[in-house]
Amino acid sequence: MENGTTEAAGARAERAKRPFVSREQLEKVALRHPTPFYLYDEALIRERVRRLQEAFAWNPGFKEYFAVKATPTPAIVALLAELGCGCDCASATELLLADACGVIGRNVMLSSNDTPPADFVHADRMGALINLDSYDMVACLADALGGRLPDVVCLRVNPGGTFAAANQIIGAPEDSKFGMTVEQTLAAAKELAAAGVREFGLHAFLASNAQGDGYYPALARILFELAVRVSRETGVDVTFVDLSGGVGVAYRPEERPVDIAAVGEGVRRAFERVLVPAGMGDVAIFSELGRWLLAPCGALVTRVIHEKVTYRDYLGVDACAADLMRPAVYGAYHHISVMGFEGAAPTRTYNVVGGLCENSDQFARDRPLPQVHIGDLLFVHDAGAHGRSMGYNYNGRLRSAELLLHEDGHVELVRRAETPEDYFVTVEVGALGERVRRKLEEARPPDA
Ligand SMILES: *Cc1c(COP(=O)(O)O)cnc(C)c1O
Repeated sequence: MENGTTEAAGARAERAKRPFVSREQLEKVALRHPTPFYLYDEALIRERVRRLQEAFAWNPGFKEYFAVKATPTPAIVALLAELGCGCDCASATELLLADACGVIGRNVMLSSNDTPPADFVHADRMGALINLDSYDMVACLADALGGRLPDVVCLRVNPGGTFAAANQIIGAPEDSKFGMTVEQTLAAAKELAAAGVREFGLHAFLASNAQGDGYYPALARILFELAVRVSRETGVDVTFVDLSGGVGVAYRPEERPVDIAAVGEGVRRAFERVLVPAGMGDVAIFSELGRWLLAPCGALVTRVIHEKVTYRDYLGVDACAADLMRPAVYGAYHHISVMGFEGAAPTRTYNVVGGLCENSDQFARDRPLPQVHIGDLLFVHDAGAHGRSMGYNYNGRLRSAELLLHEDGHVELVRRAETPEDYFVTVEVGALGERVRRKLEEARPPDA
């Protein structure tokens, strides 16, 4: 599916780094919803879910468990649920979110590490699948559930060593805190089976933001071979293999987007080669994609409010790292389009910065852009996953609103921006709390 005629519209847009809205549309939205805000594109979300499901349509049991941590926005989780996705949760609060969106039972996966016993209880009450990250959790799970065990348990494997796909090292599982060794996995399966667990899944997450189409197929091969081994050596019934998350997106325009159809085909080939001959052709494939599914479907929209020329040319925007921390924390690249000049040739070099008292608060450094003016809207691409969800309140910055652009073109506010009241809501200091309330009252604009 490399050529332009068979490539989906969304894949073409991802490659060309064109915003999914026009400047006119955005200026209209900004009249009602002040910048900065997150904007998500429903049509693009639907398209990516469809492309994923088509890529794995050969596997009747296939299911995507959306990694809720990437975009814990109820309207989006509910949309994904409507499209047939479940939820991958890592905490009791994420389980609550899934539950509130109508996602329960085996449509929920609790995949956490260092898990508090209460989270096992919560997941079990919802009928969720539980993924055990360590061998000691076999005993913890039984303890938490009062000696009872669920019918199904998933085991998170860490094969150690380095992990290569297409002859390229893309991860070092031996340095990762996640998962249990192969020996521990075998022991856990035996013990759990002896205690009455009837069904097993295997799970591993060995690389993050993996580029190229080879990650899932290489991981699948490892997990399929282990599934055969676990089933032979312990006699347990492995009914699903969870490839977890980690499939990457092309943050940079020069990167080639992952071809999800080729990924699905690569996994199918490993399945035919390993599982089918072992008589395990009915194993279901699960994914827990966050980034691949949602990152290109959301943008951070921010306005330029200052320009400062010192030793660099700085554009000050009204968003900051508290809205999107990936550039500050990981040095991550997010493509930026100047609305109204999308695709125009760069003529300047800018540092695009936020207002935090931290020099790391820079969305871009030495970034070639067309000439930018104060008041211009910037579209920060690929912020739909691990974007607002990693937001924080440093410097008293308030997290921004989330808007959903529906297929019919109307824009819905699905989460309002935080207010100073939200910032103080957890303060419990008696008389001081009363003073905070009075100050908030005084600071409220007269029309609010
Ligand atoms: C974070 C995470 C995911 C999603 O990862 P992406 O890189 O967003 O695809 C899936 N499963 C688990 C267990 C995770 O921790």
